[in-house]
Amino acid sequence: KKTLKAKKGVVLAAGGFCRDKIFRKLQDPRIPDDVDSTNHAGATAGVLLKAFEIGAYPVQVDWIQFGPWASPDEKGFGTAPILTQQGTFKYGIAVDVRTGKRFMNELADRKTRADAEFKILREDPKAYPITFADTKMAFKDLSEEVISKGMASGKLVGECASLDEIASKYGVPADALKESVKKYNEGVKAKKDEFGKQESALSEINEAGPFYVIRLSPKPHHTMGGLKINTKAEVLSSKTNKPIPGLWAAGEITGGTHGASRLGTVAITDCIVFGMIAGEQIA
Ligand SMILES: Cc1cc2nc3c(=O)[nH]c(=O)nc-3n(C[C@H](O)[C@H](O)[C@H](O)COP(=O)(O)OP(=O)(O)OC[C@H]3O[C@@H](n4cnc5c(N)ncnc54)[C@H](O)[C@@H]3O)c2cc1C
Repeated sequence: KKTLKAKKGVVLAAGGFCRDKIFRKLQDPRIPDDVDSTNHAGATAGVLLKAFEIGAYPVQVDWIQFGPWASPDEKGFGTAPILTQQGTFKYGIAVDVRTGKRFMNELADRKTRADAEFKILREDPKAYPITFADTKMAFKDLSEEVISKGMASGKLVGECASLDEIASKYGVPADALKESVKKYNEGVKAKKDEFGKQESALSEINEAGPFYVIRLSPKPHHTMGGLKINTKAEVLSSKTNKPIPGLWAAGEITGGTHGASRLGTVAITDCIVFGMIAGEQIA
């Protein structure tokens, strides 16, 4: 055991806790034990808990964000988030394999989509929803490098010649699947999607195929909650709601900055801005 003393102050910057299986489940019991996360192995709650122990204020700790673009067919963040978000979600649809029907706006915010996928997986943990688009359109905006990375394992992206092949390979009712594609294309023509998909992202799916298909499984991606700080990045006490002397925090270990569903790309801004503020305050 070593004791390190700080002369001016301590900044807690231990990140989020998406890889902490026990703590994340205590906060959100929906999370299955065996579900993977997009985070690195150090994304654990030890430092957060230590801060609570000395009286730091918790805020929105059970608000955990799941990546609705992740796949069970690869580990961690992987390549699926790019292949779906900038590919099959944009130029295709996602369906519930049990019914063959769409169940969400494929480009809605992360929480809306993850909740919709979770609803299916809670009813049947193995009924991973699928997303697909015809091969001409699916990955047209992506680099060769990303596409070949996604294809490399042979497990992540399924290639199917027709809607019938998707139906038999993924156990989807064929007629309902065809009806869903037809209905989607009608919505594209009418510029009105049944799930409110953005008009600018509506393009017809070539019903004749062939198709690229990816299975979906929401993975814990970001923990919005954590330590309550003020605008000076000082950690507040749960007893007094005033700063705990000498204690600052920045980044994903803090809570309250992003609300219930963090927007993509703004976590880094949060980390950098409050990290700089904490440094300036201490210096
Ligand atoms: C795959 C992925 C893609 C992302 N893409 C984006 C993006 O494009 N834009 C964006 O804004 N955000 C993105 N995010 C979110 C963003 O990257 C994170 O919120 C941010 O990096 C968190 O930074 P941090 O410094 O708070 O924590 P981290 O970067 O997680 O650093 C915390 C460090 O503390 C260490 N640590 C933890 N506990 C202990 C302990 N007890 N003792 C010692 N060390 C400990 C950890 O090992 C780690 O090294 C993404 C996240 C992931 C996982």
